[in-house]
Amino acid sequence: MYIYEEGKEIDMKLSGLHILLTYQCIYECDHCFVWGSPRQTGTLTLEQIEDILHQAKEAGVTSIYFEGGEPFLYYAVLLKAVHMAADMGFEVGIVSNAYWANLVEDAVEWLRPFAGRVADLSVSSDLFHCGECLGERPQNAVVAAKWLGIPIGMISVAQPDAGVKESHGQIEDESAVMYRGRAVEKLAERAARHPWERFDTCSHEDLRDPGRIHLDPLGNLHICQGISIGNLFEKPLKQICEEYDPDAHPICGLLLSGGPAALVTEYNLPHASHYADACHLCYEARTTLRARFPDLLAPDQMYGIFE
Ligand code: SF4
Repeated sequence: MYIYEEGKEIDMKLSGLHILLTYQCIYECDHCFVWGSPRQTGTLTLEQIEDILHQAKEAGVTSIYFEGGEPFLYYAVLLKAVHMAADMGFEVGIVSNAYWANLVEDAVEWLRPFAGRVADLSVSSDLFHCGECLGERPQNAVVAAKWLGIPIGMISVAQPDAGVKESHGQIEDESAVMYRGRAVEKLAERAARHPWERFDTCSHEDLRDPGRIHLDPLGNLHICQGISIGNLFEKPLKQICEEYDPDAHPICGLLLSGGPAALVTEYNLPHASHYADACHLCYEARTTLRARFPDLLAPDQMYGIFE
């Protein structure tokens, strides 16, 4: 329904839609929120993307990102989708790990068809993606994009033990690991732990009015990865935004009132004494709650369950 601001009722307003073109990726990075993997399933078709873009227009969205997984795995679909979105007047961005940029000259050819159509190319480069090489391919992509006049930025996630600033999502400069998705399984044991009761707020996502939201290939709209507020293939995006009542959502409402700790207390969940961060407790609590809220805590892909 509505969010409340100074006593007024206001619909959730979306300006950005981040479209996971596919859950598939050539890598299985330890820090990946969405469990990207060659073993993953779920990829959008062009017909679905065209429908999504029209729905986004109707809902007032102005910015579209294509990401994954790794969107360049479906190059022809990505290219056509970017052109469609740009032709419809959206500001268009892409997020990629630049696996395709073996040489600068090759990267120029991969990127040339996007020149003039993409307002931001975000390339991930860190030890999770690139081992010890620290990103020769991302660097090639940067040089090629600059040569073509494509605005480009780097995304880098620090190792768990490194001291870095906090992040609010995947598109940042250097950001700290947040313990969601595969990071819980692979990295949480390397992190310092804190008592679970301390995690009484969600400070990483604006669950009332997020501004941008993630859409996965199955149509789920994720206010945070693995927390759905509706399915765009079942109900129009505009209507989902209008009907979204964060305080009445069985997961978001509790996160807003008392953070992940409130999920534990309200639903009387088993829990450990200490967690790496709020997202770690949140992700573990949600995993336990999936059977109770299968439509809201979806899909299997976001919880590391592959076909
Ligand atoms: S606490 Fe939960 S909802 Fe908030 S950012 Fe972390 S995983 Fe997402």
